[in-house]
Amino acid sequence: MSMNDNRRIVGEGTPESDWLAWPGLLDMPAAEASALVPAGSRIVMVAPHPDDEIVGCAGLLMQLAALGHEILILGVTDGTGSHPGSGYWTPERLAKARPQESLRALEYLGLAKVPILRLGLIDTRVTQERAALIAHLDDHLQPDDILVTTWRGDGHPDHEATGQACAEVASTKGCSLIELPIWTWHWASPGDPRVPWERARRIELSLDQYERKCTALEAHVSQLTADDTTEQGPVLAPFALARLLRPFEVLFL
Ligand SMILES: [Zn+2]
Repeated sequence: MSMNDNRRIVGEGTPESDWLAWPGLLDMPAAEASALVPAGSRIVMVAPHPDDEIVGCAGLLMQLAALGHEILILGVTDGTGSHPGSGYWTPERLAKARPQESLRALEYLGLAKVPILRLGLIDTRVTQERAALIAHLDDHLQPDDILVTTWRGDGHPDHEATGQACAEVASTKGCSLIELPIWTWHWASPGDPRVPWERARRIELSLDQYERKCTALEAHVSQLTADDTTEQGPVLAPFALARLLRPFEVLFL
């Protein structure tokens, strides 16, 4: 897919009220975590940035952990590119803070024992470092793993590069792949023909899971606070959070 189309992540994007008014979201087929993942298989979640595992699939991970599945998170980058030009959130500060935020978020989910392996690729440059990512995935994946990652058409270059690399390695290794739309909710519109809605399934969160997910997201302080040094608002502004903190998650099978 070309990056010259209008899948751009600028402005406020499609309001959550538009999504909630769309029957396609309301009537989307539901899936049970227990039916998606065969008993005994390991889940490997590949997160381009520290927080994608929370916004994309915190509920799914809690449900799979409760079913007794082993979970491994591969953190592709440390998220050091979220505040370009900032005098406070420098890449050095982010490199320390964001992986810590991820650990705290997992604690809130009750998943403190889930290991996160950090791969150390450079934020915003996953496309250029694709070969290194494929080599890491090749090292860590086993044929029976269920791979969960960002959708290869998600509109953010790191999310797309990660999705593409995972799709490639999943097909050579024989792993199943589940993809997550994250920035899609920003640039797409209800029924958007660029989105594979026929692959979409809803995972419903219990009230407890939904509250834990909301609390876990609060651990990502670097993404939730305005930056006085650049006069930029938070990376995850309220209009973005509204789309990301729903009592359900959407997956592409
Ligand atoms: Zn991300």
